[in-house]
Amino acid sequence: MTAINALKPLIRTIPDYPKPGIQFRDITPLLANGDAFYQVIEHFAERYQDKGLTKIVGIEARGFIFATALAYRLKLGFVPLRKPGKLPAKTRQQSYDLEYGTDALELHDDALTATDNVLLIDDLLATGGTLIAAHKLLSDTGARIHECAFLITLNDLPGGQKLDENGIGYYTLFEF
Ligand code: 5GP
Repeated sequence: MTAINALKPLIRTIPDYPKPGIQFRDITPLLANGDAFYQVIEHFAERYQDKGLTKIVGIEARGFIFATALAYRLKLGFVPLRKPGKLPAKTRQQSYDLEYGTDALELHDDALTATDNVLLIDDLLATGGTLIAAHKLLSDTGARIHECAFLITLNDLPGGQKLDENGIGYYTLFEF
């Protein structure tokens, strides 16, 4: 397998998106490359096979892409964390602060139990707000969180440090 870092140039930087001053890391060129997407999922599969995982949890929306592919590859169930109002059955909710205002994530109440051992996946770690909320939602079910995995971590934002401070273990493929 090619060293995973050889795939980093497939992440495209879009300046001033979605607003001026933001350098958006666009993963769509990597996703559109079948060999690259395959290698990313195989890389995660190698790391997470035989870890006794019971479910892969993905954060809406880009986290779903990697979480579902990996769940299929490892023959595990997939559990979505969604934006409010999208899940049809009884949910639990965790809100988090944005630069302006707040947002929230929801989990189906019966999706996980204390016997689960899960991997939590999102595409990118920036301030860490999304991930900390997701982690709290999962922890409150009693499930064990084996690790959190990202394609990308932005090192000039405090997400990594926040996770370290909260004792949340994580793994990232690419750093910017
Ligand atoms: P945080 O809550 O850590 O500040 O932001 C992480 C969330 O925002 C992730 O769910 C991620 O999808 C999204 N996000 C923020 N910036 C970027 C970016 O530059 N590229 C991509 N692909 N997603 C981003």
